[in-house]
Amino acid sequence: MSSEDILKEVAAEASVCVKCDLCKTRTHAVPGEGSPHAKLFFIGEGPGFHEDKQGRPFVGPAGHFLDELLASIQLKRSDVFITNVVKCRPPGNRDPLPDEIAACNDYLQRQIDAINPPVIVTLGRHSMAQFFGTEKISAIHGRARNIGGRLCIAMYHPAAGLHQASLKDTIREDFKKIPKIIAEAERMKAEGQLKQEPAKPEQDNPEQMTMF
Ligand code: URA
Ligand code: SF4
Repeated sequence: MSSEDILKEVAAEASVCVKCDLCKTRTHAVPGEGSPHAKLFFIGEGPGFHEDKQGRPFVGPAGHFLDELLASIQLKRSDVFITNVVKCRPPGNRDPLPDEIAACNDYLQRQIDAINPPVIVTLGRHSMAQFFGTEKISAIHGRARNIGGRLCIAMYHPAAGLHQASLKDTIREDFKKIPKIIAEAERMKAEGQLKQEPAKPEQDNPEQMTMF
């Protein structure tokens, strides 16, 4: 199956999924959207009010900031892929629960496998935890690390930037590093240094390598 077809299949399954209780309160599942060939893959937390209404990721205020950040590095939404750790809105925008994240993980993993992006950016704590374990965002944000054969970068959630002006600048600065990190990932891939393995939560793994 082509990556496009796999993404369509995941979206169709998520739209009728009943694997966790978030299905009971959703209006629309929000599987994610973007290019099946994206080099850059964003993982947010979960749909909010506007996303639940429209069935699309990051269309509220945090999404407008994300659009601005993408534009700052000459990218459009259609160049990248944007999704979340849970595809249905947690009621009242509460944090997704561990069992909800676990129930939804298969969709995220299939999206990553289908697109096979060299670079993944986690937005906020919950997606960060999936790749970086219990590390602190304040310590690791904006730095690329080879995790399972992809360069992964943890970033503050754009919504955090809307609430705290100093973080807004930090997020802008971190975004500016992305083009270089994509170029580095492509170079490493071409030289056989980025070997894809299944991405899994890692902790204190000595084989992880931090760059830049
Ligand atoms: N916040 C997220 O984490 N994801 C969205 O899709 C929207 C807001
Ligand atoms: Fe299914 Fe994920 Fe929605 Fe839960 S959040 S119902 S696992 S699609």
